[in-house]
Amino acid sequence: MRKLSLFILVFFCCSISFAQLLQEKQNFTRQDSLRGSITPEREWWNLTYYHLDVEVKPDDKFIVGKNTVQYKVLKPHQKLQIDLQPPMQIEKVVQNGKELTYKSEGNAHFISLDATQNIGDINSLTVYYKGYPREAKRAPWDGGFSWKKDENGKHFVATSCQGLGASVWWPNKDHMYDEPDSMLISVTNPKGLTNVSNGRLRELVENSNNTVTSHWFVSNPINNYGVNINIGDYTNFSEIYQGEKGPLDMDYWVLTYNLEKAKEHFKDAPKMIKAFEHWFGPYPFYEDSFKLVEVPYLGMEHQSSVTYGNQYKKGYLGNDLSQTGWGLKFDFIIIHEAGHEWFANNITYSDAADMWIHEGFTAYSENLFLDYYYGKEASADYVIGTRSNIQNDRPLIGQYKVNNEGSSDMYYKGANMLHAIRQIFEDDELWRKILRGLNEKYYHKTVSTLEIESYINSYSWFDLSSIFDQYLRTTMIPRFEYKFENGIFSYRWANCVDDFDMPILITIDKETVWMFPEKSWKSNDSNAEQIEVDRNFLVTSKEL
Ligand SMILES: [Zn+2]
Repeated sequence: MRKLSLFILVFFCCSISFAQLLQEKQNFTRQDSLRGSITPEREWWNLTYYHLDVEVKPDDKFIVGKNTVQYKVLKPHQKLQIDLQPPMQIEKVVQNGKELTYKSEGNAHFISLDATQNIGDINSLTVYYKGYPREAKRAPWDGGFSWKKDENGKHFVATSCQGLGASVWWPNKDHMYDEPDSMLISVTNPKGLTNVSNGRLRELVENSNNTVTSHWFVSNPINNYGVNINIGDYTNFSEIYQGEKGPLDMDYWVLTYNLEKAKEHFKDAPKMIKAFEHWFGPYPFYEDSFKLVEVPYLGMEHQSSVTYGNQYKKGYLGNDLSQTGWGLKFDFIIIHEAGHEWFANNITYSDAADMWIHEGFTAYSENLFLDYYYGKEASADYVIGTRSNIQNDRPLIGQYKVNNEGSSDMYYKGANMLHAIRQIFEDDELWRKILRGLNEKYYHKTVSTLEIESYINSYSWFDLSSIFDQYLRTTMIPRFEYKFENGIFSYRWANCVDDFDMPILITIDKETVWMFPEKSWKSNDSNAEQIEVDRNFLVTSKEL
């Protein structure tokens, strides 16, 4: 079973990107800085709107189109950075009807603007581009375009690009700190196939050349990796869910021959909304609806068009990541990827180093889903069971400003850290208020780890800083060490950061008490014989 779990981990959803595996041995380059930092050519303008307009030619595995980038001038500057990765090519850049010059440095393109950029002005430019986009090698982790065929031999095409960057298939400001306030996605594809992107379908136009163009409008801020194209022989069904903010349109787009299967299997979707609205607050994108869209890869958290490829099985492709049985009570991809609507799409990291904010909270959401339907013990079993996937190889937080993700432990070590903090609060209503409060305070915003830490800390009776440091910034699992000598019980924390300070529940001869170990020894008079550390804390213990 352990082998199985390692195997699963390797193929784990939106987890270990290929780029991340490479980066472990790699020194960061200037390209990493151009991609991962807020360069002077990015800093001076604030994205307000994109209109991505692209034609997809599945027969040729070719795309051609343009992206209009609208921005507000924050300070005067004449150079603007747009990212687009080879083999995609910029054809031209146009502002106010005039073609502009630009200098390319790898994936970054520095456009020289002619018109004076006055503070407060809203300007736009259009980047025309084309090419044979990178084909996904192992979507969604090593993404790009998946050019597949369905069982009937019809084209089944999808994009995925987290980590790699949206600039792998369209020109944009490829950094997470800035999101457009809204976006129009226009996709032209062969007649007979349907494209589903983010937001709502505004218009469907039949063209004379045997193609159709669908215009999808996203009325909320959207992160760049969330933008997606899915083209297939789709049919759809829908329902209206009466949620916390009123009626929510839930639309399901599946391959025509999977319709009946999907109608049964997707019952997990409204169940998911119910549980997550309880824990996290209203679904963050009512205006854009909620969609599940079948794709030829496992799935991904694309905003308001969550993609699905879990083969209509419970668990993770039929497997239970916790090995407790609880993981087979739900479809992992529906619950996990949709959980990201709150933690990833609503609250988005502003630097890839803080990706644990997406994956730690969302892995934790799997256990809250179970808590909602099966109770606290079941959910604890599950989150504790997922510890077998933790590797302690690298810290959860990666390196800042170079587009570097932390360890894949961001999933289940992150979830177990949050589970332990819930115990310390010892007040589930307050804990729920904090989770909902995060989604309210950082509604449609990009955030840092420090902001999340200080928000949670502001509600805590106990300073949690050293707990965050321990679990997010080191690979050490704290060890509770204790000894009995001449009627004295002594205990301390070992394998921890210097100021580590975490209260823990200990059962001493059947009596459970809070203890407050520190790095130096503490002691009590005691004739106790048996010590048991509460299983809800991610620690080890050792009698000396
Ligand atoms: Zn995820």
